[in-house]
Amino acid sequence: MAEENPSITSRSITFTHKVPILKTRRFWEKLEEGEVYATKCRKCSRLYYPPQGDCAHCLSSDVEWVKLSKEAILETYTHALQRPAGFNQYEPYIIAIARTKDGVRVMGWLEDAKLEDVKIGMKLEMSTRKLTDGFLVITFKPR
Ligand SMILES: [Zn+2]
Repeated sequence: MAEENPSITSRSITFTHKVPILKTRRFWEKLEEGEVYATKCRKCSRLYYPPQGDCAHCLSSDVEWVKLSKEAILETYTHALQRPAGFNQYEPYIIAIARTKDGVRVMGWLEDAKLEDVKIGMKLEMSTRKLTDGFLVITFKPR
């Protein structure tokens, strides 16, 4: 009979903190409207998602906001049965990473799809949704 690995149980740790959004405020405002934005460097044209206030390639701070296409393709996903701290109040959900037509990868909740019907490469429509506790999530639905 296999011996169980010895372990102790830690105390629960909960923390919240204020995330500065001075340079990414538009991103958060547009999520409320169901749109997802990236930033694009005006100097070298690199596209950044998540949005960045400064270009990591050419170090320019001259960036513009770009609305991402709602059309995306599923690249990978996981069914979150064991939810992390802060997510236990939700029913198990599917977290997806999809590539938008703009070529950036976005992570969000895959909804309105049965797990057995989820296939890599499937076409998705990206949007956002406010959860009952007020948090906003990016969502994908089959299209
Ligand atoms: Zn740049």
